[in-house]
Amino acid sequence: MASSRFDIAKKIEVEGSKELQRIVKKVLTEEELSKEEIIYILSLERGEKDRELLFEFSNAIRKDYVGEMFFIKGVIEFSNYCRKNCDYCGIRAANKIPRYRMSEKEIIEIAKTMLPIGVDTIILQSGEDPYYDIEKLERIVSRIKKETHLPVSLSIGERPKTEYLKLKAAGASKTLLKHETMNRKIFESVHPDDDYDKRIDLLLYTVSIGYIAGSGNIIGLPGQTIEDVADDVLFLRDSGVRMVGLGPFIPAKGTPLENHPYGDPELTLNTYAAVRLCIPKVFMPSTTALGTIDEDLQFEGFKVGCNVIMCNFTPEKYRKNYTIYSDKIKVDFFKTAKRMKDMGLKLNPRILKNLEEYKKVII
Ligand code: SAM
Ligand code: SF4
Repeated sequence: MASSRFDIAKKIEVEGSKELQRIVKKVLTEEELSKEEIIYILSLERGEKDRELLFEFSNAIRKDYVGEMFFIKGVIEFSNYCRKNCDYCGIRAANKIPRYRMSEKEIIEIAKTMLPIGVDTIILQSGEDPYYDIEKLERIVSRIKKETHLPVSLSIGERPKTEYLKLKAAGASKTLLKHETMNRKIFESVHPDDDYDKRIDLLLYTVSIGYIAGSGNIIGLPGQTIEDVADDVLFLRDSGVRMVGLGPFIPAKGTPLENHPYGDPELTLNTYAAVRLCIPKVFMPSTTALGTIDEDLQFEGFKVGCNVIMCNFTPEKYRKNYTIYSDKIKVDFFKTAKRMKDMGLKLNPRILKNLEEYKKVII
């Protein structure tokens, strides 16, 4: 049987530094970590003994608090139109790329394929596209609920609070609205159309009306320090979100940040571990952005505290234009499920059964 957090804590008492021992004790007694302690976690480097021990511990926390099961969510990127101009994003309004919108029928047909293969949640994602007015979105959400009974998650950016309320009534139960960075100056410098306080207020509103709300940050925005990332972790802990999606910045062609360097994938892994220690019950994907830098590292995320992955169900003819960053990989459902199974990760039985069927077809 896999080691519990108490087993790993004993090992850390012998092999870990005093600093790590103090952090571990606090986590075991459910005391809040200080910003300095989070910075210690974030600063660890590949090869350091403390980092290996930390990852063993964060993995054990994941197992003890949210169980052995790993979850595969499916994302439908239904529109790449966006009225905003976030500096980092390849589908920002000013970027000259071929645009597409999927019809309601197309979206629902794809959602229906996700139920039998064992997808855990259907994520509807898009740019901020007013073409999908509230009536359209309500129809899409309620039809998907009716046809699949799967949880529906919204990743559609900032919409009026009334719309988040209506979409909840229509059947959506989860949201993803990233705060992107807690550093006000950086937030304002990369979001020409957004208001920092409004974003945080809307995010907290999604928590308050009972969504299983998600947020997250980008690692590696211009001017960002490790202290800023620690502030992101503290905010996520205090905000009441139950899902965290965070990943490295990836440059996108044609954007103001196209020549800015990639976010640090190793810091991303450290941040996953820090989030798991601060919010033990969090649902946290190992993100596509991390996989775009290094596919193996995305799977390493499952060993440091992540318990979710988002697979892509956008039809190829559209997906190639959902270029939020350059060379975005396709996280394929069956390929991913197979690799997770081979790693010995527990998946729901429906996925495993379908994996067997899939193997019969491709081998
Ligand atoms: N438009 C909605 C929104 O902004 O919330 C949903 C779609 S948006 C593409 C989803 C997420 O993509 C954003 O929250 C942002 O964190 C991430 N993203 C966009 N461009 C990125 C980039 N160049 N590198 C890393 N993440 C990026
Ligand atoms: Fe639009 Fe979201 Fe990209 Fe910003 S991050 S430009 S809101 S799609």
